[in-house]
Amino acid sequence: MSRSDTGLRVRAAVLGEYAQPMTVMDLQPAHRDEHTAIVEVLMAGLCHTDVSLAQGRIRRRVPLVLGHELVGRRIDAPGAEGSASGRVVVTPYPPGHLVARRAPRSGRASDIQVLPTLATAAGDPVHAFAQVGAFADHIVIDERRLVPIDDDVPDQVAAMIGCAATTGVNAVYDTAAVPAGATVVVLGLGGVGTVVLMACCARGARVVGVDPSAAKRDLACSLGAVAAFHPDHAELADALDECLGAPIDYVFEVVGTPRTQQQAVDLTRPGGCAVLVGSPPEDATVTFNASSLVGNERVIRGHANLGQDPASAVQRVADLYRAGMLPLDRIPFTIVGLAGINDAVAALDDGALVKVLVRP
Ligand SMILES: [Zn+2]
Repeated sequence: MSRSDTGLRVRAAVLGEYAQPMTVMDLQPAHRDEHTAIVEVLMAGLCHTDVSLAQGRIRRRVPLVLGHELVGRRIDAPGAEGSASGRVVVTPYPPGHLVARRAPRSGRASDIQVLPTLATAAGDPVHAFAQVGAFADHIVIDERRLVPIDDDVPDQVAAMIGCAATTGVNAVYDTAAVPAGATVVVLGLGGVGTVVLMACCARGARVVGVDPSAAKRDLACSLGAVAAFHPDHAELADALDECLGAPIDYVFEVVGTPRTQQQAVDLTRPGGCAVLVGSPPEDATVTFNASSLVGNERVIRGHANLGQDPASAVQRVADLYRAGMLPLDRIPFTIVGLAGINDAVAALDDGALVKVLVRP
């Protein structure tokens, strides 16, 4: 560690108990090693996984600083990552994340136990979600997760690359490998769902979106969707087939509820693929008609962004954005400070907002 972070105080929104408001407090770095970097947070994205954690639908150890996607600037070794502006984004997983694929069968691949990187002034440990903890003015992070980002990618776009954008793009380009001309339905048009829709359009697929929000459906159509429907639309499956002109090759589920996951499987054509991207509650169980699954040779894929080299995934998103094929700057966003996070969590959960960005 260099002198510059000696005595650093990290002002962060801390989740002390599930389903209770986060509290803004001062913390200090802890448990550094030779790879530890200190990054000033310029802007962070609020993702549905953060919302699920805040409300206890997904659980990790508390106290916990949420937030796992951001754009920032390294302060302990300025310019170490090499971009002109010194701005960096953080990759979705730490180095060696593929090792987690050997996690116990009953666990999740993302369960990597690490020492807490933060502590209270009294020295009590505070965890950082995904070893990031972006809802703070600074993060304590493994430097191998930092990727330089050029100045032509604005903060509000860079802030969502680490999770929302790479999750959506990797699901389409790698997990499903959607080909040109494919027919696609996207269930859920929040931040990740909208990126999935953009990425499908970039691949030359015919896409229809489904979401209760009229504003999100309008956005989907303006981004290239053939049409967009309310989930309660009468005879939805027939309407989707008709609108796409063919049965549905791929259904991306980006809501994270058993009901929509089941719907994704049911909507897929024989031989088609349902890609489950939304984060479901940890105790959720889905049922589907076994005979229909087997007899129709349907495929169900889970997607948690584990499969790609994280730095390459970030670079691909930046390249697609620059090429105009992934217009992330058209995703409407609301900016809040650390003190506004609790209200933002509630609004995102209600579906009232597409994307929330936190400027600490
Ligand atoms: Zn996320």
